[in-house]
Amino acid sequence: MENCLFCKIIEGQIPAKIVYSDQDVVAFADINPQAPHHVLFIPRRHIASMTDITPEDGPVLANIFIAATKVAREMGIAESGFRFVTNVGPDSGQSVFHLHFHLLGGRKLAWPPG
Ligand code: 5GP
Ligand code: ZN
Repeated sequence: MENCLFCKIIEGQIPAKIVYSDQDVVAFADINPQAPHHVLFIPRRHIASMTDITPEDGPVLANIFIAATKVAREMGIAESGFRFVTNVGPDSGQSVFHLHFHLLGGRKLAWPPG
């Protein structure tokens, strides 16, 4: 997708600290981390937001969750705990319209979120 920041990261046109990559999924460090560990997981296929997911995306989404667990284990936060969230639309503060999940961990995370 033209003019999509995260598609450009997938294509290597914009640099990012990639921490995981497979045929479906790319994960990279957030440029403005909100916790000691803050990684974004995205599908290679451009999906604008959670509300654009279709049943055909099921296997890719499963791989995103499996990849996030793998990375959380590698970071040593699988046992202490972490959060895995996606923002959807204006009230959530979604700012990039390529579906992404935030993996946040390494500190106590408040609930409810702000
Ligand atoms: P959203 O607000 O849409 O849920 O999350 C977008 C995230 O993308 C934010 O946490 C923001 O810091 C991150 N972000 C924005 N631009 C870049 C960038 O150029 N590189 C990286 N690595 N992260 C970015
Ligand atoms: Zn995109």
